[in-house]
Amino acid sequence: MENNILGKVVIITGASSGMGEAAAKHLSALGATVVLGARRTDRIERLAMEIQDNGGNALAVAVDVTQREQVKKLVDTAVEKFGSIDVILNNAGIMPLSTMDSLHVDEWDKMIDVNIKGVLNGIAAVLPYMKEQKSGQIINTSSVAGHKVFNGSAVYSATKYAVRALTEGLRMEVKPYNIRTTIVCPGAVRTELLEQITDVNVRQANEAYVGAVGISPDSFARVVAFAISQPEDVDINEIIFRPTSQE
Ligand code: NDP
Repeated sequence: MENNILGKVVIITGASSGMGEAAAKHLSALGATVVLGARRTDRIERLAMEIQDNGGNALAVAVDVTQREQVKKLVDTAVEKFGSIDVILNNAGIMPLSTMDSLHVDEWDKMIDVNIKGVLNGIAAVLPYMKEQKSGQIINTSSVAGHKVFNGSAVYSATKYAVRALTEGLRMEVKPYNIRTTIVCPGAVRTELLEQITDVNVRQANEAYVGAVGISPDSFARVVAFAISQPEDVDINEIIFRPTSQE
C-alpha cells in the first residue's frame, strides 16, 4: 500500500531539536523531502546532511517564526527548490512555564509570539500556494495543555488552546481548496522544551515529572506520519497522545 508520504514536500518548523527533528528523520525515511526551519542553523544544517547521507532529501533554511517575512521566505524557498509544498508542520514552540503572579510578562509575550503568531505566519505563507494547488495539509502542534490547564501553564495553555481554535476555524474555511488540517496534541515528551523555564521550582517539578513519565519524540513522528499517510480524502483533524503513565 502506498504511504502517501513518498515524494511529498514537508516543511517543518522547530526542526533543530526534539519532536521536529524526530519528525524530519522519520518522514524523510518514508520518502518525504523535508525542509527544515529553525534559528539554530548549525543544527538544521547538520540534520540535513545526516538525512542526505542516509539517502534522503533535505534542505535547511534559517527562520525565526515570529518574523513573517522570514517564514514567507522559508516557504518561497521550498517552492522554488522543489516545485510545490504539500505539508507544513507548524511545530516551533516555547514553554517558559511560570505562575502568573510572578509576572514574567516578557515570557508571556514570547510565548504568544512564537506559539500563536509563529503558527499564523506559517499558515499565511503556505495558504496562497495550497489554494492555487488545490491541495495541501497544515499540521499544527498544540498540546495536552491545549485541552487542560496545569499549575503554571496558564499562558502556555492559552497559546495552545489558541492553536486548536485557529486550526479548527481554518479547517472549515479551506474545504473548497481540498486542504487538510491536523492538530497534534502531545503529552509529556522528553525534549529540550523545559530548558527555557526560568522559574526554578516550576522547572524542577516539570523535569521530575517528564523525567518520570516522558516518552520519546519518535512518538510524535509516528503520529504525524499517520496523519499525512491517510488517503487525500481522509483528514485526521486532531490527535491527542500521552505517555501511558501520564494522568
Ligand atoms: P524543543 O525545545 O526540543 O524544540 C522546540 C523547537 O522550536 C526548536 O527546534 C526551536 O529551534 C524551535 N523554535 C523555538 N522558537 C523559535 C523561533 N522563534 N523561530 C523558529 N523556531 C523556534 O521542544 P519540543 O520538541 O518539545 O517542542 C516542539 C513543539 O511541541 C512545541 O510547539 C511545544 O510547545 C510542543 N509540545 C511539546 C511537548 C513536550 O512534552 N515536549 C508536549 C506538548 C507540546 P531554534 O531554537 O533552533 O530556533
